[in-house]
Amino acid sequence: MDAGKLFRLDGRVALITGASSGLGERMAEVAAANGAKVVLVARRKDRLEALKARIEKAGGKALVAVADVTDRKAMAAAFDAAEKAFGTVDLLVANAGIARVKKISDMTESSWREVLDTNLDAVFFWSQEAAKRMSAAKKPGAIVTISSIAAFTVAYGLSSYHVAKAAVVQVTKALALEFARKRIRVNTIAPGYVVTEINRDFLLSPEGQAMLGGIPLNRFGEPADLDGAFLLLASDAGRLMTGSTIVVDAGHMLMVGG
Ligand code: NAD
Repeated sequence: MDAGKLFRLDGRVALITGASSGLGERMAEVAAANGAKVVLVARRKDRLEALKARIEKAGGKALVAVADVTDRKAMAAAFDAAEKAFGTVDLLVANAGIARVKKISDMTESSWREVLDTNLDAVFFWSQEAAKRMSAAKKPGAIVTISSIAAFTVAYGLSSYHVAKAAVVQVTKALALEFARKRIRVNTIAPGYVVTEINRDFLLSPEGQAMLGGIPLNRFGEPADLDGAFLLLASDAGRLMTGSTIVVDAGHMLMVGG
């Protein structure tokens, strides 16, 4: 078996939410470099256009679809634009996410809703839309959601994030079950700390650096560290996998309670 071929995404149409930075930007580049046509979704048009230009310069194909993931009309428009340009989306990467620090005693409904709307509801509805369209087109496909090791723990001040990420694991399983007979696989990646815009200031602060001692491989990740897990779940290499959670965390989970 040629490992290179096993993980290829030739002929696939991949839509990646939160493609304007961090993990989403990286997964879009990796998908394109491995043969997929990619649809770049986020709110920052300039960032998406710059990414599209980079992908095209490297010989790939990309389309920009500006959308807030909490906006269902923008969601439908993004899938429509993808279909018009490249055909039915058969790889969704539901990646967009935010974190808001607030103790439970100070929690406002708007802060709670913002995190749940973005990290949970959007993952559910974008996945539902992708699966409906794949089913209608009788196209098999894959959905990759991004949860977190935060799904399995709780930290002070981040209750909304932890709750949303735990629910993403369950949403992933529920989608996997319902769409398996349509040959749509749904899996999640649960990363540990990876340095991106969402956490760079914290991870590089003295407080963040002090956490390295509790991480067995003694380092934070970088977006490229998820390439293997992403390609496994997105490609036919993962053809027997659905409803799975792949933890990619430098061993951080091993230390809970340790
Ligand atoms: P990031 O801040 O660099 O990227 C998040 C992306 O989501 C950005 O492109 C942002 O613009 C987009 N986004 C946020 N809200 C949006 C909205 N309403 N509509 C459209 N786009 C929106 O952070 P990241 O680390 O790349 O995060 C990507 C995913 O990975 C998130 O779901 C995050 O929770 C998850 N994650 C990150 C880490 C980590 O350590 N970096 C660990 C575990 C899980």
